[in-house]
Amino acid sequence: MAPLDPHSFTDSRNPATTDISLSLYFDFPSATIHGVAFFILSLPYAGQLSFDTRSLTIHQVLSPINLSPLPFSLSSSPDPIKGTQLSISLPDDPVFNSFFIVFSTSPSSTALQWLCPPQTFNKKHPFVYTQCQSIHARSIFPCQDTPAARIRYKALLNVPRELSAVMSARHVDRRPPVSGEGHSHLLPNGFNSLWSSETRVVEEFLMNQPIPPYLFAFAVGELGSREVGPRTRVYAEAVNSVLDAAAKEFAGTEEMIRQGEKLFGEYAWERFDLLVLPPSFPYGGMENPRMVFLTPTVIKGDASGAQVVAHELAHSWTGNLITNKNNEHFWLNEGFTTYAERRIVEAVQGEDRAILNTGIGWKGLKEEVEKFKDNLEFTKLKNNQEGVDPDTIYSEVPYEKGFQFLWRIERQIGRPAFDEFIKEYIDTFKFQSIDTETFLDFLEAEIPGIEKDIDLVLWTEGTGIPPDAYEPVSDLYTKILSLANEFKLGRMPREDEVADWRGQEWELYLENLPRVLEASQVLALDERYRLSESKDYEVKVAFLQLAVLSKCRNFYGEVEKTLKEVGRMKYLRPLYRALVQGAGKEEEKILAKRVFSEARECYHPIAQGVVESILAKHI
Ligand SMILES: [Zn+2]
Repeated sequence: MAPLDPHSFTDSRNPATTDISLSLYFDFPSATIHGVAFFILSLPYAGQLSFDTRSLTIHQVLSPINLSPLPFSLSSSPDPIKGTQLSISLPDDPVFNSFFIVFSTSPSSTALQWLCPPQTFNKKHPFVYTQCQSIHARSIFPCQDTPAARIRYKALLNVPRELSAVMSARHVDRRPPVSGEGHSHLLPNGFNSLWSSETRVVEEFLMNQPIPPYLFAFAVGELGSREVGPRTRVYAEAVNSVLDAAAKEFAGTEEMIRQGEKLFGEYAWERFDLLVLPPSFPYGGMENPRMVFLTPTVIKGDASGAQVVAHELAHSWTGNLITNKNNEHFWLNEGFTTYAERRIVEAVQGEDRAILNTGIGWKGLKEEVEKFKDNLEFTKLKNNQEGVDPDTIYSEVPYEKGFQFLWRIERQIGRPAFDEFIKEYIDTFKFQSIDTETFLDFLEAEIPGIEKDIDLVLWTEGTGIPPDAYEPVSDLYTKILSLANEFKLGRMPREDEVADWRGQEWELYLENLPRVLEASQVLALDERYRLSESKDYEVKVAFLQLAVLSKCRNFYGEVEKTLKEVGRMKYLRPLYRALVQGAGKEEEKILAKRVFSEARECYHPIAQGVVESILAKHI
């Protein structure tokens, strides 16, 4: 076994899968998908082939010639991070560059959240959606689940007729199912005969652009859509108020795509559709190609949620076109994308907005580095993740330190030269998965002598924040920070000083207040500005976090309500942490445990795992 990724059983001596055809039967009552997958390898191969799975039942592995069974085995006990290794024995015959696997998912699949009707907006129909990053695709279908591998796929999704399906792939057709199509006759437990029932429909998709498995994505529910641009439609549950608000919030998307193209070259994925998910979606957005998945909390009513869209759009170049080889080089995805996001925001919304965004990131980076003070490995851009679950060490470091590194290079060589460099970088490595060394070799070749001006080793392998990182400056940014400083001396900002503040200004202000205030100060701030009732979750959560850290119990009811209505980890992490971290928090710990036990079912499995690990560490 020669591993190439600390988070995968993929053997580097095995040929890679190039194409997969999936036939998936969605059984909502049992929260299970029954599937047949046909795999094509890059080369004919004889011997042991190693795949990743997690909580899958493997019914059969079959020959492509005569459907005879091929021997396979599963590792006896699952690895807590990687899951279960599937080993397939392919016979010594040149035709074996392909095979079938018949499998079923489990209701505990870590990629899938199955929502029952009361957990959706419309309360009428069930809903299921995926989140495969970092290492969860393997809980939907067996695969070489490493970003070092890229696959094309076809998929037939067999779903109840009253629902529809979307994927991060080209939609080919919606039509009645055909008995036996896509080898669905191989499906287990009688689902083969249910495939062509008249209560079902097949949604057919094709993904011709090769993607790493973590970008595999679908959602099934009662969906509606609105056109917002020549290559953009917004999808959400078929509730007019949600669709209208989303269409309004994201009306400027085409302008952002054009800005992205100006900076980074042609948009390679044809469509840029958006899917607004139910509130349990664990991230702000997920850059699934052709269709970005979004939390409904980005709909703020003032188009400021577009910043998350700018980030996911920027991934179309950095992350999706050029992908980190494994999670130890995650900064190549997120640092570049954070840089690109700010360039798009700067072009579309102006420099002041981009600087606020950078300033919030700077504060976040300093706090993350402080948080990792006992585990400095994860303050490095390139780090060692052997035996480490990527979900539990997820932080702003790859985003913000990665951003700072690229910004440092920009300041050194000037923006025009850096823009040329980025275009060249994207053109050279598109549709490839690379590591930090490949980036550095390219940088040194393109910009000779750069290593003399910037300590590249310190930036990529050193801990903490390098001395030549840079806090942004602008009048607005400086003004907000000085107001936050004045609060420490007892002065609250006047109404006229905050009259044109939007969410980001408040977020920056709150983040720069002392972490612990007098309860009376927290109450006074809320009395004047009603921050606990803000419709903008960034503001509301920043305020509630401050209230909990200051033990201002008047707001615990609002904290509980917030933890029960959204499942975005950006809000769950700080609120649960504020409740349980530190001494003398007995009442808060009891509250956290009770709220989690009541809200758990509403969270995506990835968020459940993250909250569990926070509670386990402190309770
Ligand atoms: Zn990102």
